[in-house]
Amino acid sequence: MVEIERGILSANDALAARNRDELAAKWQFALNFLSSPGAGKTTLLVETLCRLHGRLPLAVIEGDQQTSNDAERIRAAGSPAIQVNTGKGCHLDAGMVGRALAALDPAEGALVFIENVGNLVCPAGFDLGEAKRVTLVSVTEGEDKPLKYPDAFAGADLVLVTKADLLPHLDFDVARLTANIARVNPRATVLRLSTRDGEGMDAWTDWLLAARKLFLEDLAARAEARAAGLRQTAGIPA
Ligand code: MG
Ligand code: ZN
Repeated sequence: MVEIERGILSANDALAARNRDELAAKWQFALNFLSSPGAGKTTLLVETLCRLHGRLPLAVIEGDQQTSNDAERIRAAGSPAIQVNTGKGCHLDAGMVGRALAALDPAEGALVFIENVGNLVCPAGFDLGEAKRVTLVSVTEGEDKPLKYPDAFAGADLVLVTKADLLPHLDFDVARLTANIARVNPRATVLRLSTRDGEGMDAWTDWLLAARKLFLEDLAARAEARAAGLRQTAGIPA
């Protein structure tokens, strides 16, 4: 059983590396969104797409077991979207995302949002080739979610604490949640968010655009270093 699992994961890693190369070749910045069902991934994406619409190319891959409702909500927000139905599968894998990218063909420089299947367990184990991983946890869940599902939080670059507008009605301790996130992942940025009253939405889009800028600057630096190496090999003065 362990052997089989290891084989599946190394095959996935090879496909994830291919996705990462193909995304980089087109200067596309991809994010993989993880959460339990109902934490607000699609609602956040719709709101984010509305805010970024017209500023840069956008594209969305929607993972769901059965329906295409989420992709329809995304298209209604004016962005190209493709639905991947995993059927009985409870996570996206790199092969599914590679096929979705080929079919969707996002524009050069696009921000590519990948909404994983709502599940905090196995999506964490599958690299999709994304540049950044974002985990959502809503305030209607328990503060101990990061301890119960450490992998989903340990691999996250950013944790979004969603539905913060509900806090006045709940006995939810954000400080305890934040401490639990820090226990499994001290380097993650944590932001409180509400799509209903807009709390944290500017901080979220600022984080997103800054992370994309760093990613693209790094790609540019590597391309320049490669070009410099080629010039030297070919004996062409810089
Ligand atoms: Mg959804
Ligand atoms: Zn799964």
